[in-house]
Amino acid sequence: MNVWTVPPAALAALAQRLEPGVRWRHVLAPYTTYRIGGPADLFLVATRAEEVVTALQAAHALGVPCRLIGGASNLLIADAGVAGLVIKLSMSGVRFIEDPGGPERVIVVAAAGCQLASLARQCARRGLAGLVWASNVPGSVGAAVVNNAGAFGGCMADVLVRALVVDPQGQARYYTPAELAMEYRSTRLKAGALQGAVLEAELALTRADPRELEQQLAQVRERRRQSQPSGFSAGSMFTNPPGDAAGRLIEAAGLKGYRCGDAQISPQHANFFLNLGAATAREVYALMRVAQDAVYRQTGIWLRPEVQLVGRWTPAELAALAAPGGAP
Ligand SMILES: Cc1cc2nc3c(=O)[nH]c(=O)nc-3n(C[C@H](O)[C@H](O)[C@H](O)COP(=O)(O)OP(=O)(O)OC[C@H]3O[C@@H](n4cnc5c(N)ncnc54)[C@H](O)[C@@H]3O)c2cc1C
Repeated sequence: MNVWTVPPAALAALAQRLEPGVRWRHVLAPYTTYRIGGPADLFLVATRAEEVVTALQAAHALGVPCRLIGGASNLLIADAGVAGLVIKLSMSGVRFIEDPGGPERVIVVAAAGCQLASLARQCARRGLAGLVWASNVPGSVGAAVVNNAGAFGGCMADVLVRALVVDPQGQARYYTPAELAMEYRSTRLKAGALQGAVLEAELALTRADPRELEQQLAQVRERRRQSQPSGFSAGSMFTNPPGDAAGRLIEAAGLKGYRCGDAQISPQHANFFLNLGAATAREVYALMRVAQDAVYRQTGIWLRPEVQLVGRWTPAELAALAAPGGAP
């Protein structure tokens, strides 16, 4: 939602309903893997599902926009911050349930705030296969459902049985992968066609030899180490266009290592845009536009952002990213 200002009276009323945990004008950069982003008008860390439901309902009733975050590892938060309420979902807890459908399957029920990577490693240690690809993917289980996160040929849609989603009115129900329309790095939740918070995810994993899974974890770790740069980033900046790789296209446009201020296209992997220390969101945005235009000139392909722009971006800025020819 691209809102710039929220009536102060509505914010004050919401803050009163969310006391004592709520914080005013709280800077978001430290919560993000990019270390970039201005303040949220109101900020709440939710450690229980009930807190999320209450906050969503209250914000909805008062007309205050609400943005959910997990690990904020896929976001570019505006320097001018985020209007309204930002809720960081930090609910934890995992349950393992024998699947009545067959002894070889186990249902793993994970709260939305669980770290996906540590859940994946925990499952592998228990001899449960299906999440090895996720063992180094940052962020939360809830957002992994929202984004249909994936790597090395696997993705959430492969293992998700159903996700519990609560809507802004406080109604919760389960959604199957088909109902969420899970596609490559996209779902109805990410597209905004379905609004609400993922509270927990049920995953079907299969029994396997823990030693074999341990070897696979090591292979995934090594592939990551070789291919992905360290440093502050939000992962892949653009989705891969059909049949090609965004990183290859940006590299072919001669942009590896290109800088705008303290933001740099990684010299190692051109689809990773790094914050070298003091980059602003505006600098990263400028790099995105440079890459889109250069690749478009060379190939006619328009790179689509995988990283989501959140907060006080202008409609012109967002339009310029969405399609060629709309630069502000
Ligand atoms: C170094 C690095 C490597 C990465 N590698 C990969 C990779 O291999 N594969 C991959 O898919 N991604 C990768 N990513 C991107 C990122 O890890 C994933 O997109 C991840 O799923 C985001 O999780 P998050 O908790 O950080 O979500 P956030 O960035 O906090 O949020 C992402 C979106 O989900 C929404 N959201 C968050 N939580 C909820 C919830 N509980 N309910 C409803 N909406 C919610 C947010 O509003 C936002 O729209 C990488 C990122 C980094 C920094």
